[in-house]
Amino acid sequence: MIKAPRQEQIGTIKKESPKKRAVDIARELGITRQRASQILRRLGYPPARLSRPKRYCANCGKRLSRQTAGNLCLACYRADLSSVNIELACPQCGKTFNRKKSYVIWARKEGQQHFFCSLSCRAEWMARHRRHSLKKEESHEDSISASRIDFIVFVPLGIVRKGD
Ligand SMILES: [Zn+2]
Ligand SMILES: [Zn+2]
Repeated sequence: MIKAPRQEQIGTIKKESPKKRAVDIARELGITRQRASQILRRLGYPPARLSRPKRYCANCGKRLSRQTAGNLCLACYRADLSSVNIELACPQCGKTFNRKKSYVIWARKEGQQHFFCSLSCRAEWMARHRRHSLKKEESHEDSISASRIDFIVFVPLGIVRKGD
């Protein structure tokens, strides 16, 4: 397919000076602005009023992609996230405390449901809940496994007696 000379001319102008708008090209070639933008569209250049202004990261000044929401690049957004704390309530003592938001998001993704103010609260809570879940398991167990538990309990007693 042979390109129309007008189209070729405009294509060359755009290649040489990409910042030229349809109105500039129209003036240069003595054609209407409508005609110039029509040819530009055909050449694959988006109309000036539709091309969004370029955005830059508010922190590092890096050019942002169109998909980026907000005013930070991904790296700065992540860094920002890691400095942001999130307030949580301890399920053991009820105290509120702060954890890094990035950590909480990561831990939740990993399946963690409870966050504790301290290791001791975590240990207490775990002990309480392990006992609860054990009790639940025991009630479902039959007499055979119950006697097995008795056996395990009696073995160390027997060793202690032998040692005496
Ligand atoms: Zn940035
Ligand atoms: Zn606590």
